[in-house]
Amino acid sequence: VRMATGWENLLQDEQQLEELARQAVDRALAEGVLLRTSQEPSSSDENNSSQVSTSIPLSPHQVVSYAPFTLFPSLVPCALLEQAYAVQMDFNLLVDAVSQNSAFLEQTLSSTIKRDDFTARLFDIHQQVLKEGIAQTVFLGLNRSDYMFQCNADGSPSLKQIEINTISASFGGLASRTPAVHRHVLSVLNKTKEAAKILSNNPSKGLALGLAKAWELYGSANALVLLIAQEKERNIFDQRAIENELLARNIHVIRRRFEDVSAKASLDQDRRLFMDGQEIAVVYFRDGYMPNQYSLQDWEARLQLERSRAVKCPDVATQLAGTKKVQQELSRGGMLEAMLPGQPEAVARLRATFAGLYSLDMGKEGDQAITKALAAPSRFVLKPQREGGGNNLYGEEMVQALERLKDNEERASYILMEKIEPEPFRNCLLRPGSPARVVQCISELGIFGVYVRQGKTLVMNKHVGHLLRTKAIEHADGGVAAGVAVLDNPYPVVLTDVETLGAFSQLSHLMTRKAVSF
Ligand code: ADP
Ligand code: MG
Repeated sequence: VRMATGWENLLQDEQQLEELARQAVDRALAEGVLLRTSQEPSSSDENNSSQVSTSIPLSPHQVVSYAPFTLFPSLVPCALLEQAYAVQMDFNLLVDAVSQNSAFLEQTLSSTIKRDDFTARLFDIHQQVLKEGIAQTVFLGLNRSDYMFQCNADGSPSLKQIEINTISASFGGLASRTPAVHRHVLSVLNKTKEAAKILSNNPSKGLALGLAKAWELYGSANALVLLIAQEKERNIFDQRAIENELLARNIHVIRRRFEDVSAKASLDQDRRLFMDGQEIAVVYFRDGYMPNQYSLQDWEARLQLERSRAVKCPDVATQLAGTKKVQQELSRGGMLEAMLPGQPEAVARLRATFAGLYSLDMGKEGDQAITKALAAPSRFVLKPQREGGGNNLYGEEMVQALERLKDNEERASYILMEKIEPEPFRNCLLRPGSPARVVQCISELGIFGVYVRQGKTLVMNKHVGHLLRTKAIEHADGGVAAGVAVLDNPYPVVLTDVETLGAFSQLSHLMTRKAVSF
């Protein structure tokens, strides 16, 4: 057995870390692991219109930099990676089933929409479209199911779902480009064998295949894909990766804001959608998942898009299927069985990934959940119906919120979730403008799923890649876009029987502290 050095030896050599970090950053830039900067989020080039007639350059500022990432890939047990991949098609089926079950959505969200304006607006659109009759016949889901690795009492890790993102699931593009960076780092260290273990990953290609299939089934050769995005978009290169894949298939994409839809979109009498006079086959939302992304007029635009025949990714029902309230209700006994009748194996795979989820609706059940959380605040997370990171409440903040909400119907707009506690490990985080930091970290694994349905027939159902994000343990909440987590890659490790018995925690310490054989 060949002895290899664990990352921990590497993490202690500061000088070597600096040199490795320089190499890694240059490779990341070369591979296109990029974000626009917060100073210039609307452009990838300096706006030099004010300099036209002068030779004196304005003070230059950076418009693009690398997306933050870990210097080393983080260890992930093979079995959990495989489990996450294996359950993805089940999650696709589940989301698709929920989106078609208007009675379930109505019942599940009835208390939430009384107190949560954002969910209420989405639900209103859903109801309006149902009443009018759904013009859309082809359905496309591009989602990402996120997990953490719960450290069990015996030290073994288990896969627990954090949430599923059914709208604007991002970083599939950049995640396609990070494996080359980590292979580079390991190759510089002469760890050729280890470098080869980094999994290839191409979610953007798979997501584009879904979009292409939906476009094809829409069946109009000259129709376009309409990508709804904000003008200020730091994560543009992630989106471009998908646009590029589509263009390579001769499918043209136009990027527009909700405001442009208000100004320029129209429906014909068959509710075909036109934008700037061109027919739209697929509307792909990379915006519209947070309340502050909608003006009153933008809500009108969203309604117009939903009413159209165009394939919405996602349609409003699928967006609602991704709410935390739905996640919580699906964890009730018998719910999965009702959604996926005759599929006990899928149900078992799904349920195995569920953490404890509790309703906070008024009544005895909600009261009991609040009592439990107040008795042991460190074991729970309080979640509103929000996306995008930074909205959940933990610890003392959660306690204060629960005390305030206890006797208030507003509590129904939240759910309570068991807090997942992964085993921390050390890695080195690289961010533009900050020195490399070696810190205690935890990771979150996401699997991208794609499905396409035509009428009642599912014509595509697959997983198309993964995303590993890692953050310092001092941050309870937040993803890459929120400035908390950084991009990473799983370094797959096999837990042997001995190691499994001897606890994963020991193994991960071994892996990171001492020389061990991989
Ligand atoms: P959002 O829709 O804002 O992304 P998430 O449910 O994904 O909401 O929560 C945001 C972040 O909070 C996650 O990326 C994760 O780091 C942390 N988090 C969420 N739920 C839990 C949980 N049950 N246990 C531990 N951490 C959690
Ligand atoms: Mg999330």
